[in-house]
Amino acid sequence: MTQTPLNPGDSPLVREALSSVVSRETSATQTAAQPGEAPGDGNGDGTWPRPAKCRVIAVANQKGGVGKTTTSVNIAAALSMHGQRVLVVDLDPQGNASTALTTEHHVGVRDVYQVLVDDLPMADIVKQVPEMPNLYCAPATIDLAGAEIELVSLVARETRLRRGLAAYKAIEFDYIIIDCPPSLGLLTVNALVAADEVMIPIQCEYYALEGVTQLIRNVDLVKAHLNPTLRLSTIVLTMYDGRTRLASQVADEVRAHFGDTVLNTVIPRSVRLSEAPSYGQSVMTYDPGSSGAMAYMDAAREIAHRAKVA
Ligand code: ADP
Ligand code: MG
Repeated sequence: MTQTPLNPGDSPLVREALSSVVSRETSATQTAAQPGEAPGDGNGDGTWPRPAKCRVIAVANQKGGVGKTTTSVNIAAALSMHGQRVLVVDLDPQGNASTALTTEHHVGVRDVYQVLVDDLPMADIVKQVPEMPNLYCAPATIDLAGAEIELVSLVARETRLRRGLAAYKAIEFDYIIIDCPPSLGLLTVNALVAADEVMIPIQCEYYALEGVTQLIRNVDLVKAHLNPTLRLSTIVLTMYDGRTRLASQVADEVRAHFGDTVLNTVIPRSVRLSEAPSYGQSVMTYDPGSSGAMAYMDAAREIAHRAKVA
């Protein structure tokens, strides 16, 4: 047995907690194109198969800097470029997803905070992303930082985002991707209650699984009490550095724990991915030929084809 590259002290516990997830989720997440169809085939016109109903995906990991926002924005952009109508809900007060999608989010802009706390209709805040016809963004301003506390005393505090999205009929989305903040507070709970699926980005580094067990426990709690159909559908390995042995060890370890839930595509470290947001773009338009753009395109294609079994 190989030595785990993760926290050796926690490993047995982590293994035990995670192995149950693997067995529960593997059967639900078998991925594949239809018989005779290669994963890139789509509909033959550059579009990918649209899901039968809108897939709401919460991109969550309470660790900061693991690639939640980069993953949310670039998967959303890639899907939108292949005929999917996609909404990104920025649920992080830092508003990084809004920035990356050139969606105004300075103080005074109507934002997700007002949907959650003031019952503002979603239609009043959603903006189309410039030059990306199928991509929309519900921005977050710094006001959202207060929502964690203000939500506590509100009625139906865990279900406010779900309610806001359910009432939004103006556009029939194929995907709603919720970029969560780096915490397990009420904002993330709102995302988990509103979602059908959880996607966890895991950074290929030491301590990669730290916190994932707790996140999965929260997913299970939300599932048990608030959202019975929620499932961990996707794990994406991010910031993979092929030159280091540690990265491949972490990737192997995560695959051993989570099986087919892990996308085949691994997102490499790519400086283009980190540059793109400062140009108000996803990497898909900033540098489509870069390794990061191609990896997110492949990851999005895998996700789109998983729609058939979702
Ligand atoms: P999170 O939303 O989980 O906090 P981010 O997506 O904001 O994480 O990523 C954290 C930082 O790492 C950002 O500066 C981002 O540009 C950078 N980054 C994310 N993914 C990659 C990657 N694959 N290669 C290089 N830099 C990346
Ligand atoms: Mg983020």
